[in-house]
Amino acid sequence: MIGVTYLPGKIIQDKITGELRCRCFKRCGGCQLDEPYADQTERKQQRAQRMLSKFAPVNAIIPMDSPYNYRCKVQTVYGYDRYKRIISGIYQSSSRKLVAVDDCMLEDVHAATITATVRKLMKDMRITPYDISTGQGILRHTLIRTSQTTGQVMLVVVTASAMLPAKNNFVKAMLRAHPEITTIVQNICPDGMPLTLGSRSNILYGRGYIEDELCGCRFRISPASFYQVNPVQTEKLYTCAVQAAGIREGTKVIDAYCGTGTIGIICAKNGAEVTGVELNTSACRDAAANAKLNGLENIRFFNDDAGRFMQEMAARGESCDVLIMDPPRAGAGKEFISCAVNLSPEKIVYVSCKIETLERDIKLFRQQGYNASYIQPVDMFPHTVGIETVVLLDRAKGQ
Ligand code: SAH
Repeated sequence: MIGVTYLPGKIIQDKITGELRCRCFKRCGGCQLDEPYADQTERKQQRAQRMLSKFAPVNAIIPMDSPYNYRCKVQTVYGYDRYKRIISGIYQSSSRKLVAVDDCMLEDVHAATITATVRKLMKDMRITPYDISTGQGILRHTLIRTSQTTGQVMLVVVTASAMLPAKNNFVKAMLRAHPEITTIVQNICPDGMPLTLGSRSNILYGRGYIEDELCGCRFRISPASFYQVNPVQTEKLYTCAVQAAGIREGTKVIDAYCGTGTIGIICAKNGAEVTGVELNTSACRDAAANAKLNGLENIRFFNDDAGRFMQEMAARGESCDVLIMDPPRAGAGKEFISCAVNLSPEKIVYVSCKIETLERDIKLFRQQGYNASYIQPVDMFPHTVGIETVVLLDRAKGQ
């Protein structure tokens, strides 16, 4: 084919535009957009405008300069092909069938080579892939987390029971082949959905977490903690969010759904008095450690449901100047919003990873006297349909 280079694996590069495409596109489902990157961002811009321009003008989406290999978290499942060779890839969302993917243009470049070594060691050490339909086998999946800023790499092997054959040899061989790995953790997950983590972990090598740097702060990330998957764009996203919050010395901020404490810690570094709330225990533990790591005393974290926590704050007669909220895809919903409004923040900065729930929630906030004045989409997930957006909501005068 003229103008096209085949790279090893499934990735194809257009010689003229330099853009990459993947031959797995239709079967895998990890990407949903198979068009030039400029067309993808244009499509997302139009969608954001269609859904959100009724609230306030929508700024131009912030694109990614090099929209490849951005995922710093890679989960891989293992199985057999018809010749009984071990393969690795992802479950097709429609059929739950394992699609073999050796090379992915979204994932961090370290992941493919580490995964290839895991496959080889599985064969050598008789570590069988877990089969979700029979419940037989050992290795459920692997989770690789990487940091481009610190160079640290974490490998988590998720097993169905505590049994991992030749555990010490596995760790030694992994480290020999990949000196870039800084920690290896075994997570034990006897049941549950594919790609979930169990409650028990053993650190097999290193500290059991990695660190990453964003916006001049350092963050520790444990296996079960949420961390944005595209750190390059996250820096832009957080910069927009913190600027929209208009932080000054002493501004009282609540960082709801705070994960490892990232946005709140950046605000605290700018002088804000911050309270972070997070439901996931591991992430909340990381958040508290991250406050220390960054030498901050003007921030505290609570392991709680964000809505309930804010309701209790309001009942004690407390308030805040700025509420930063970054909920999961389901959005915040009615109950959270009425709790938020009871704290009468002057500003609410809503960071959303799903535009449909964002639209619904902005409408609910409007009914409670908060109006959007700034809408900034950021392309956090190139080649997928996902749109991340920062919205500033201001309390109407007299409310
Ligand atoms: N702001 C963080 C995390 C955003 S993801 C960041 O940018 O990294 C959403 C977070 O909300 C996850 O960490 C999830 O564990 C947490 N979460 C989900 N439901 C919650 C609830 N009801 N109350 C508090 N936190 C919740």
